[in-house]
Amino acid sequence: MVRHTPRIAIIGAGISGLACALELERHGIIPAIFEQRARPGEAFNHVGGLLQLMSRPIRDEVAYLRKELHLPVKPLARWNRIIMHTPRVTRTVTGNLGYFFLRGQDENSTESQLYSLLKTPVYFNRYADWRALAHHYDYVVVADGTPAVARTLGCWQDLVETWVRGAVVLGDFDPHTLIMWVNTEYSRHTYAYLTPFNARRASLLLIVNDSNPDEIEEKWRLFWEIEKLDYQVLDSFSVKHTSGYCYPPQVGNVLMVGNAGGFMEPFLGFGVMSAFRSGVYAARALVSGKSYLSITSDLRRKIAHLATIRRLLNNMDNEDFDNLVRFITTPGIKQLIYNTNIDVLQYTTVLLNLFEQVKKKVRPGTQK
Ligand SMILES: Cc1cc2nc3c(=O)[nH]c(=O)nc-3n(C[C@H](O)[C@H](O)[C@H](O)COP(=O)(O)OP(=O)(O)OC[C@H]3O[C@@H](n4cnc5c(N)ncnc54)[C@H](O)[C@@H]3O)c2cc1C
Repeated sequence: MVRHTPRIAIIGAGISGLACALELERHGIIPAIFEQRARPGEAFNHVGGLLQLMSRPIRDEVAYLRKELHLPVKPLARWNRIIMHTPRVTRTVTGNLGYFFLRGQDENSTESQLYSLLKTPVYFNRYADWRALAHHYDYVVVADGTPAVARTLGCWQDLVETWVRGAVVLGDFDPHTLIMWVNTEYSRHTYAYLTPFNARRASLLLIVNDSNPDEIEEKWRLFWEIEKLDYQVLDSFSVKHTSGYCYPPQVGNVLMVGNAGGFMEPFLGFGVMSAFRSGVYAARALVSGKSYLSITSDLRRKIAHLATIRRLLNNMDNEDFDNLVRFITTPGIKQLIYNTNIDVLQYTTVLLNLFEQVKKKVRPGTQK
């Protein structure tokens, strides 16, 4: 029996869609790729972090991308330091923490690098309708960065909804350091962070859960005021971000990858590594006939661990955040979390119980 080459459409030329297309190409399949924008990448440039702690047991994400996923993308810089600020505590963590990646439409951005590896043409300026494509193609890979299709198919459950307010700022920065701020007054139960493009330019983001376009502007103003920031602002943007649980990530001939498949985690809102992975896994499932649901089960397990942490954070106040930062930077705990390759996220329940005990000692009578 001759098996015909499947006709595959991909919606979205973001990280997951391009990763999927490249893996299909590697197996001799030319997909049809539809992208609503004129080129790959968000209109605003920013610097994303790949935190090794979140990718364990993968030791080095860049080597993993090159060797295991055949995606030779170059990071912007190594990430060697985090400075954490909560209202009453400032702590620093150092080590091989991961990498910074350039995002957006710059020619060196991660999306542009993936696109330059691709031989298949992308249909730009083409908004794709998944229902129509599902009729005309054997398979549709939804890589559109949104939960819309999964919601329609009834396989999506929201975990966190946030608004992200960002800017490109000028100042003096260490290109290997991420600065993070947490204060419920402006970030509610999420956080703000700064990641450098270089020694003079950085992206500054404030993420606020359960917010809206008007409130995020007020929170942004408050953030600058409380933290007494005086950077010069070059560029600004705001976007909505939803992370959720998607099960199953394939319905009929429709496969959902990246954010669309529920692979952006709900703790810090990181989704780059799992966008690469789920894109490649979808291609491998289609090529091999293996189940996409089972190939992605590890990714979902991680999301479930991080959803547990998210639930805990959603009940915390500023004093809890002060104590949490003290706790995770206590000698011993800090080394365990940041300087080993133990997949600590698997043991979140143990760590969180330990934290609760420490918290009760610091603040007797705490019932949270
Ligand atoms: C400001 C910001 C900062 C972030 N920081 C980090 C970080 O530090 N670390 C990290 O790991 N993650 C971070 N993330 C999350 C990460 O960017 C996402 O998880 C990742 O980009 C998801 O990739 P994706 O391919 O699923 O979707 P996207 O990258 O969003 O790509 C989706 C593509 O689909 C296109 N599209 C949508 N609908 C259609 C349609 N109907 N037809 C055609 N094309 C369509 C879009 O134009 C877009 O190009 C951040 C996200 C944002 C917004």
